[in-house]
Amino acid sequence: MPRRILIVEDEAPIREMLCFVLEQNGYEPMEAGDLEQAQNLLVDPYPDLVLLDWMLPQGSGLSLLKSMKRSDLTRQIPVIMLTAKGEEEDKVQGLEAGADDYLTKPFAPKELMARVKAVIRRVSPTSLDDIIQVQGLHLDPVSHRVVADDEPLNMGPTEFNLLHFFMTHPERVYSREQLLNHVWGTNVYVEDRTVDVHIRRLRKAIATQGYDKLIQTVRGSGYRFSTRIK
Ligand code: CA
Repeated sequence: MPRRILIVEDEAPIREMLCFVLEQNGYEPMEAGDLEQAQNLLVDPYPDLVLLDWMLPQGSGLSLLKSMKRSDLTRQIPVIMLTAKGEEEDKVQGLEAGADDYLTKPFAPKELMARVKAVIRRVSPTSLDDIIQVQGLHLDPVSHRVVADDEPLNMGPTEFNLLHFFMTHPERVYSREQLLNHVWGTNVYVEDRTVDVHIRRLRKAIATQGYDKLIQTVRGSGYRFSTRIK
């Protein structure tokens, strides 16, 4: 699943530039032009990161940062502040209030991506951008390619997301409901049986090289991705 990044920025050209750069790099941008819109987007499923402008029409980004840090639901979402040149005091206040990093405007897309990736890497054990490898199975989250023993594999987007989830969460049993929440999202209403259908397709997609053995059915519980024999 692409990482969702909430952009809180009142200047439309900057917001559009941020969206463009993030999309180009495989992220899913969400846009808020003011604090109210931002608040409305800070709900389940939560963004993985917030790019927060400091000077907003209804007030400072600091108030949003502080309210995020007060709530158990949003406290762990990393925040990168966007500040104008010379606003040294804002940086200090932001970092003290819990921001993870800051970018001084104007900034280059390269610098933005470097900061975004660094913050995401810091907060999550495996960055979405890193190629994940389990035995001869390689999954590239950026190009959406899966290779098994140097043989490229074809699979649908849901199978890809499932495999990605399994490869980053090995050796643990997940119920169908948990898989639905993690892979499909919590506000999507699909039947548990849907999981079985996609598991079947995923197994088929990776079966030629024998990797279907890695996706194990745990009777009465769900599924487990494991390199160990049952
Ligand atoms: Ca602004």
